[in-house]
Amino acid sequence: MGQSEKFWRNLVHVSLNTEENEIDCCQCMDLLDQYVDVLNTGKDPALILPEIEQHLKMCDCCHTELEALIIAVKIAMQTDD
Ligand SMILES: [Zn+2]
Repeated sequence: MGQSEKFWRNLVHVSLNTEENEIDCCQCMDLLDQYVDVLNTGKDPALILPEIEQHLKMCDCCHTELEALIIAVKIAMQTDD
């Protein structure tokens, strides 16, 4: 007694605290350009790429990467004539 209850509680705890479609930094970086594309089309990336949105909230590293990418894209758009 006790042990299996502990197991199930822990399992529920883990699943409640883990996003169903949680991604890692590698996957986030791969999708960041898509995220910026969505931003540039005026759509809400939180609806289209919710897993990225979620990851960016938790990950300073990827968020910094995103900001750099946004700036890079802006510059590219200005010079792309
Ligand atoms: Zn990350």
